[in-house]
Amino acid sequence: MKIRTVSEEWKRIYGCKVMKLALSSGCTCPNLDGTIGFGGCSFCTGSGSGEFAAGPDSINVQIKEAKKRVDHKFPAALPIEQRRYVAYFQAFTNTYGPADKLERLYDEVLSCPEVAALSIGTRPDCIPDDILEMLIRLNQKKPVYIELGLQTVHESTAEAFGRGYSLNVFETTYSRLKNAGLTVIVHMILGLPGENKEDMLETARYLAALSPKLDGIKIQMLQILKGTRMAEEWTAHPFPLLTMEEYTDLAAECLRILPEETVVHRMTGDPPRNLLIAPAWTTDKKRVLNMLRKKLADG
Ligand code: SF4
Repeated sequence: MKIRTVSEEWKRIYGCKVMKLALSSGCTCPNLDGTIGFGGCSFCTGSGSGEFAAGPDSINVQIKEAKKRVDHKFPAALPIEQRRYVAYFQAFTNTYGPADKLERLYDEVLSCPEVAALSIGTRPDCIPDDILEMLIRLNQKKPVYIELGLQTVHESTAEAFGRGYSLNVFETTYSRLKNAGLTVIVHMILGLPGENKEDMLETARYLAALSPKLDGIKIQMLQILKGTRMAEEWTAHPFPLLTMEEYTDLAAECLRILPEETVVHRMTGDPPRNLLIAPAWTTDKKRVLNMLRKKLADG
């Protein structure tokens, strides 16, 4: 089976290699600051699950520093006009703030000629009308991708990890975003406690059946990270974690369920090694991807 990877997709759209710049908007999260909850999602480290994002510098300094970090991956001779970046705001909830302030920030980022698009990680319960209108305006300047951390369609699992919103909220926001012409990418976690294979495939089937169609998917294995509530729970009452073999079987099955036009933005996680407790195999990204690609090619 041939999947549509984000690197190929961006090359097709932007005509050159595109890299991500991990940036910080300075937003926090209503599931951490007490507006919705204090504890956050149980797997969240409190850094908004964006361990690689830049610090609180001005946005221009952040862009400069982030470019330095990724530019070595470009072939040395690639001229500047052939370099493009997606400005990626992953950590925390990047629509959680005043629309006018956020619009100034995102406008400044989009005004950088090498920035081809904006990718904004957020929660579906944090997109009121004025924020949606802002996103629509930004999307008229350059493409705006919205990433929603749904993780599962099962309410009992979501309640257990403390997601803080129901599936109905996701559905309403998803329709508003898609009907407004925005590109939507959904995150899904495999191996959440209490979920069996059928539960996980049900999430994939649900996403495959969304209308309007889902644009992109990010799949990853649950990681137990130091300092999280899940680490405490897992240490006190260890629950089984998927092996690499089981994860790649399941991820391949999920990708087979999704429509072939769904762009695959992530097939495995990239855990911060200093924080990872388990599963250790998730640090071997290359091996995981090779195993997964082989399974996809075989069937
Ligand atoms: S929504 Fe994101 S930032 Fe907020 S608690 Fe959950 S994982 Fe952390």
